[in-house]
Amino acid sequence: MSKIVVVGSYVVDLTARTPHMPKPGETVLGGPFRMGPGGKGGNQAVAAARLGAEVTMVTKVGKDLFGEDAIQNFKKEGIQSEYVQQVEEESTGAALIAVDDSGENMIVVSLGACGTITEEEVLRAEDAFREADIILVQLETSMAAIETTITLANKLTKPVILNPAPYQKFPEELLHKVTYITPNETEAGLLTGVEVTGEATAQEAAEKLIAKGVETVIITLGKQGCYLQQTGENNGRLIPGYQVKAVDTTGAGDAFNGAFAHFIAEGNSLESACTLANHIAALSVTKHGTAPAMPYLDELHKQ
Ligand code: ADP
Repeated sequence: MSKIVVVGSYVVDLTARTPHMPKPGETVLGGPFRMGPGGKGGNQAVAAARLGAEVTMVTKVGKDLFGEDAIQNFKKEGIQSEYVQQVEEESTGAALIAVDDSGENMIVVSLGACGTITEEEVLRAEDAFREADIILVQLETSMAAIETTITLANKLTKPVILNPAPYQKFPEELLHKVTYITPNETEAGLLTGVEVTGEATAQEAAEKLIAKGVETVIITLGKQGCYLQQTGENNGRLIPGYQVKAVDTTGAGDAFNGAFAHFIAEGNSLESACTLANHIAALSVTKHGTAPAMPYLDELHKQ
């Protein structure tokens, strides 16, 4: 069984349908409302756990209803929640999402407690890091949490995946310390200044990231799949995606990252782990929602 530590965000997704987006100052009578677990960290943890990984989540939530719900959700998914802290002084993070009749969305994310994770709070999970095969972190938390996670993983010589999402500026020297970086096209563009739209431009961006010190670059390219390049190689390669009828692509990157962490930790080759992660992420876009849409291992085998 693969063992993964995920350090990152948990937010509750509060989604309302609306006939049209409100203008500033306007109140619109909306349609159906849905509430569910979200946040890149939580979603990626669920994606890996549903494939059979033993996942430990490191995050922070409030001592409020949404925080209780978060812990129940992690338990339900079989995710180890010993390092999910509940604190009085912060609220659980929330994403306020409006989706209009054309499928367009507007989102405000308040990270709340998970945006204030401190160095000490990550270091508390050192035992879990020590036992893990791989560490997974995104940019949707405090910089202290991100830097401490990468530094601790290095100290314990554990491979670390940085999913640079959502993009925010971070110290460039961290790139020398990450084993895998997994930007999507937009994030790869923001990291390198190359406008990534497909294989050729992904190669250009991957070369730049390798020159900045990352060992392995995996740029996800939506339905095209992903572009993989390692240090020391002249050329990377496109690992083609799976053709599916997509109904909701939100969370595709989270499905990919959770799945990649699991399959690489299980000892698969880089190519196989990318192929399997493409497959899992494709299955996730055939369903609505983020965490609830994460596929189980038997869905992969049914194909
Ligand atoms: P993000 O969700 O972060 O924007 P991408 O859109 O690049 O990331 O998607 C991540 C992965 O999900 C892709 O590498 C691919 O494997 C899969 N994927 C995304 N959209 C589709 C789609 N329409 N059809 C099939 N696979 C998809």
